[in-house]
Amino acid sequence: MTEKSELSQIIEPLRSQFMIMKECLVCKSKLTDKNIKIVSEENSSYMFHLQCHKCDNALVLLASINEIGVGIVGMMSDLTFEDAKKMHKKEVIDEDFLLDAYQTLYKISFNKYLNLK
Ligand SMILES: [Zn+2]
Repeated sequence: MTEKSELSQIIEPLRSQFMIMKECLVCKSKLTDKNIKIVSEENSSYMFHLQCHKCDNALVLLASINEIGVGIVGMMSDLTFEDAKKMHKKEVIDEDFLLDAYQTLYKISFNKYLNLK
């Protein structure tokens, strides 16, 4: 129950001030706290996962709260809560990874070319 009240504490001000997280953007069904989960929480920045119980559409919402104000970005998504959590934990792709990926793909396509000849 503590988790739910913590969620409500964050969500309620956003709901009342910004009219978000109240209803599904697609079918307009009313969203309850059960439809909303926190993917991550860091320095007053939150990533929420909202899933409609009726049409199953999901929304990933980023909310950043600081002394200047509140920034909110939302995107429709087909990610499940578990997917969103996994994606969030993934490390940023760096140049080494990109180069490795390029070289691997290059080798595969080069070998294919040789086999065809
Ligand atoms: Zn819906």
